[in-house]
Amino acid sequence: MDWSLLECGRSGHVTYSPDEPELREQLRAATEPGEAWQCLRCTAFMPGQPQAAGPADQAPSVRRGKEIRSALILRIFAVERYLRALAFGALAYVVWRFRSSRQSIEQAFDRERPVLRSLFQSVGYNIDHSKLVGLVKHALTLSSSTVTWLAAFLAAYAVIEAVEGTGLWLARRWGEYFAMVATSLGLPLEIYELVDKVTVTRLVFFAVNLALVLYLVITKRLFGVRGGKRAYQDRLRSESVLETAAKAAAARHGAEAGPAAGASGASAGPNAAASPPADNPAGAAKS
Ligand SMILES: [Zn+2]
Repeated sequence: MDWSLLECGRSGHVTYSPDEPELREQLRAATEPGEAWQCLRCTAFMPGQPQAAGPADQAPSVRRGKEIRSALILRIFAVERYLRALAFGALAYVVWRFRSSRQSIEQAFDRERPVLRSLFQSVGYNIDHSKLVGLVKHALTLSSSTVTWLAAFLAAYAVIEAVEGTGLWLARRWGEYFAMVATSLGLPLEIYELVDKVTVTRLVFFAVNLALVLYLVITKRLFGVRGGKRAYQDRLRSESVLETAAKAAAARHGAEAGPAAGASGASAGPNAAASPPADNPAGAAKS
């Protein structure tokens, strides 16, 4: 599936005119009705004026190909995290609101049971059988200070899940780290529930969360895995349209400079140009 094309169809093409002339020529095409500009995401040439102009290193950074799919996967996880935040937030509220009276907590709990049940069911907990919820109910029989601590703990967990959801939704690097760590911390809890009783839902949620942790570490190269952040950014750059244009410009520049350089430059493949290890895509074009 062409994720770039799909995303362009959804949110429109991204065209940009770099200040660097060699680079600009690579992205611009003269057509019969006028000029056309290459989309930085799907590489199609779109007729009309570029949406923006400026130095190449200030071009909008666009997700391409698999990165778009990856961001979509993380957003599905983000929604699940928000639901968790809502479920635990509601539980924290019920416990805190009625902390002074044990009886009214139980009444409130029973009254809100349908809401709590559906909220918790959506994130894999069955409040009628969950050991975690059983633990909460047990804690309610303890002193009121324990109950207050319990409410604080539940609220803190809700906040963590909300932050995690936001980080995953935005697909920022801090969010990926945060989600990875928070999800890892949640795994013992899920093992605890599994040890109590193995159900299909619990098994699925455990497997999915374990998969998310591994997915984040491996594909996002967290904690220096597979070359870490540097290798990750190198890969993103090597896939960018501007970088390809810079290499093509360098190859053409080489071909004009001399026949020897032209021999390798003419093939114009991604590896053809012996471009300098530029820190920004424009660097190659300036040389
Ligand atoms: Zn496009």
